[in-house]
Amino acid sequence: MPFVIALTGGIGSGKSSVADVFAELGATVIDTDAIAHRLTAPGNPGARVIAEQFGAAYLRADGALDRDRMRELVFNDAAAKKKLEGLLHPLIRAEVEVAVRAAQAAYVVIVVPLLVETGAYRELAQRTLVVDCDEQQQIARVRRRSGLTEESIRKIMAAQASRAERVARADDVIVNDADLATLRQRSNALHQRYLELAANARKS
Ligand code: ATP
Repeated sequence: MPFVIALTGGIGSGKSSVADVFAELGATVIDTDAIAHRLTAPGNPGARVIAEQFGAAYLRADGALDRDRMRELVFNDAAAKKKLEGLLHPLIRAEVEVAVRAAQAAYVVIVVPLLVETGAYRELAQRTLVVDCDEQQQIARVRRRSGLTEESIRKIMAAQASRAERVARADDVIVNDADLATLRQRSNALHQRYLELAANARKS
């Protein structure tokens, strides 16, 4: 099995930006959110089981998961949230395992937004990397990107682990408190370290 790093962080912390740098440098990046999107695209297994278990009303006209409608449901209904996770997580997990096994790169990065909250994937990874930034920056970045209101972003953040909880679980932390060039530099430095750790793991 390759050397595996689980990458996490709060909403808008910079996970995808960091993962993009690792990918450019040659790592295999497996993004659990991207897999979830693919699985819930029209005609795919996630969309099919959601229609079976929740009703076709949770699909859009094109057959993809209606994310807004589902988000609304699970935000207010813990049992529905559990049911949805029970359906999708095993499908996502199976795809991640296949991708990890197929990876040829020096190391693999699995992007898991809710790693600390769910504990998922930690046992598959040798290290946990947290991208950390302060809440004001998170809010500003998400607002710029999505047009969500500050109130909605704060709601999402309140449902996620705190910065302290996340950092307490980390082997490595990238602080994303400056510009994108700095973030790239910091990711690059960690890439060098991961190459060394992966090489040592192969020897032992
Ligand atoms: P999400 O949890 O919502 O998927 P994420 O943690 O993957 O977000 P990114 O998508 O990498 O975060 O970053 C959020 C937004 O902030 C993006 O538009 C990104 O380009 C921007 N961004 C990230 N880091 C910086 C930075 N240091 N300076 C300026 N913009 C940044």
